[in-house]
Order: sequence, then C-alpha cells, then structure tokens
Amino acid sequence: MSNNESILKKAQLLSIHEKIFRCPICGGSMKVERSASLECENRHCYDISKQGYVNLLNHSSRTKYDKALFEARRSISGSGFFEPLVEAVTSRLIQELKPRESEKLVRLLDAGCGEGSHLSTIRSKLGKYSVVPDVLGVGMDIAKEGIVMAAKTSPDSLWCVADLSQSPFADRQFDYILNILSPSNYSEFRRLLARGGALVKVIPHSLYLQELRTLFYTGTGKETYSNDSTIELFSRHFEQVDTERVQYRVVLDTDQMKQLIRMTPLSWNASPEAIGQILDEEMEVTADFMLLYGWNEE
Ligand SMILES: [Zn+2]
Repeated sequence: MSNNESILKKAQLLSIHEKIFRCPICGGSMKVERSASLECENRHCYDISKQGYVNLLNHSSRTKYDKALFEARRSISGSGFFEPLVEAVTSRLIQELKPRESEKLVRLLDAGCGEGSHLSTIRSKLGKYSVVPDVLGVGMDIAKEGIVMAAKTSPDSLWCVADLSQSPFADRQFDYILNILSPSNYSEFRRLLARGGALVKVIPHSLYLQELRTLFYTGTGKETYSNDSTIELFSRHFEQVDTERVQYRVVLDTDQMKQLIRMTPLSWNASPEAIGQILDEEMEVTADFMLLYGWNEE
C-alpha cells in the first residue's frame, strides 16, 4: 500500500470514530479534515502522520523511552515473555465481554501502550472468539518512538502520541482501559471510562525479575520490592476492585537477556560489571505480576 492510500485508510477509520476525541488544548470536539488531520472546532490542528498515527501533544517531550528501548521491548514480547500475562488479561476480558454480546462495538484504550505489542496481541486474541463483539483498539503513549512502531505494525488500531494528564478523548468513551506496567492518572481514567467500564492495571509483584534485583541490588536496601502503596492508591479510586496474581518463570538466552536488561528500569542504575556477569549464559527469570481491576459504577 502506498503512503497516500494508507493515510486515506487511517483517515477513514479516524473519521468513523472522531467523536471519541476532544482537543487537548481547548476541549473542543474534533473532526477529520481533508483526510489529513484532526481539527477541533477552534481550529487546533493535529496532522495524521504518514505512518497513520496522530500526534496530539502540544509540546515536544523527552523521555528515557527511546527507539532502542522499544525495540528491546518488542523483541522480548516476541520471545513470549509476556504471553501468560497477556493471556490472563485476555481471558478476563472475554469473561467480562460475554454479557455485552448484543452490543456492536467495544472500545479498548491502552494508556501507556509503548510500541503497542500488548494491545495488538490482546486485540487479535479477542478477535478469535466469536462471542466477543467488535473491538476498537486505541493506543496512547507520550513517547513518539513507540507510537511510530505501533502504527507501522498494527494499522487496524488507532495510535496517538498524547499526554495522559491531558488525554485527547471525550468523557466516558472507553469500555476498558489497559494500563500495563505504565504510570496512571486515575482522575483521567475515571473521566474516560464508560459507566460499567473497567480499568485493568498491571503492576509488578514482589518476585518480578527477582534474579536481577538480587544481582544488582544486594546490600543496597533495594533487594525487595513492594507494590502495597500502588494497590492502596488504586483501591482508593474504585469502589469495586478485584485482583489476580500471575506468576511464572521463563528461560531467556543471552541475546534475550540483553534485550531484557535494555528494557527494564531495574538495570538503569546497575553497574556494567553486574550487568556483564549475567550475560554469559541463558538464565531463568521470574515473571510476577498483579492484575488490578477497578469498575466505574458511576
Ligand atoms: Zn482546540
């Protein structure tokens, strides 16, 4: 497909769903104009890029999340490291979605989607179940490098570069918000969730990558990790909350270990010697996650 054709296709998908957006500057409603941009009623204009994503940031952002990091994360995802986690989230969504059978479209936002592999995998898994209605996937991240990769590989979802504290969506537009290993903005999540919708937040649990933690942090007081304060904060924002722990072990070869090291903030302050130690041979690492579900009853 040529660039023009793919922009046109993306503009069509955006214009079908343009009502979910609102201008991050003035809050005005948005429309797709000339198949080239999203424009608000006050003429704030956001171009559709040639890769098919929309940049809705009104300032440029610098993050630690660069292209190398997203490539590492994609490669780790491709190795199956997150598979049991993603499967657990998908199974839960399928249970939740069954009662919605009659409805036409379910809107799923991944807030902090990075390079988009979790959203793409979940969406394609959901698509295999005939009981699940149509799903619109929307991925948002402040890091443009991640969104560029996501848009190139998964053109059937909508991808936006945007700031979670000024998210470019109208109120109550999403049935589910995924927030996987990424920061939260609970007041925005509450605003964006439809009545009866749910936030699905994934956080590391105490044994997550404990092998790396032991190697990098023994003697520093950071050998152990607790997510108690995150769970408490989550519970304060939702009346109805449920949790699920997903724990498993994965063997990674030296190349995959390199990608894991590049991906995880755990290693950002580790010494080159400590990192060097673990790149000699394959290694078994622990994946340990807590899945938090919070329903918007209002
Ligand atoms: Zn505006």
